[in-house]
Amino acid sequence: MRVRTSEAAAGTWQRPGRLRPLGACDGRGRRTSWLDGLIPDEYLPDVDAIDLDKLWRDGRRLILTDLDNTLVPWNDPEVPVHLQRWIGRARERGFDICIVSNNHGPRVAAFAEQTGLPFIAGARKPSPHGFLAALRRFDCTAREGVMVGDQIFTDIRGGKRAGLYTILVVPIHPREFWGTKVVRQVERVALRTLARRGLLIPPPRRTPDPAKSRGDGLDGCGSPAGEAHSQRERSHEV
Ligand SMILES: [Mg+2]
Repeated sequence: MRVRTSEAAAGTWQRPGRLRPLGACDGRGRRTSWLDGLIPDEYLPDVDAIDLDKLWRDGRRLILTDLDNTLVPWNDPEVPVHLQRWIGRARERGFDICIVSNNHGPRVAAFAEQTGLPFIAGARKPSPHGFLAALRRFDCTAREGVMVGDQIFTDIRGGKRAGLYTILVVPIHPREFWGTKVVRQVERVALRTLARRGLLIPPPRRTPDPAKSRGDGLDGCGSPAGEAHSQRERSHEV
């Protein structure tokens, strides 16, 4: 298919069959190319910093979430009390929550059983299929969905391909699957580049919260939800 020059120049043309955000630009006229599908709408220290009220007001109804290093450390079977409370708060607000993980079934199922959350395991993110299956399961549109995760190449890229609002969180712990460690090297370069170009604001460093380890520190996260950065707004500012 030939591309009309005006469309290509305006950044409004999409190659058939490929989903790409349009016209992503770093504010100095430079196209962000391979980076444009990796920019989350928000970048937060952890799930406790998510402003659930704002999401609800914006019409979001379904929270899709990664598991390892987003909700708990990689392959950690424990469900901390602060996480149970966060799940309770989100459900009380009216949200449905569904785990969408690339990890294998038994690991995800064991965690899901403890929390009572539905799940999709072996999702093969960044493929959008797992996200789309979850949307169908809850009879939601992409506009009503949010994807929360700690990896830009799987969680954010995949969520954006499915048309979801995306929230990147800082990984909970450096211990990870060896393949993830390799991807993290490239991810660090991408995150640094996005930050340098003003397209991503790193969240404040997470400070150790003793209250959290006692299980009673729901509101003791490093960054209050009210201070959440909207990456989308920021990227349009520059
Ligand atoms: Mg993860």
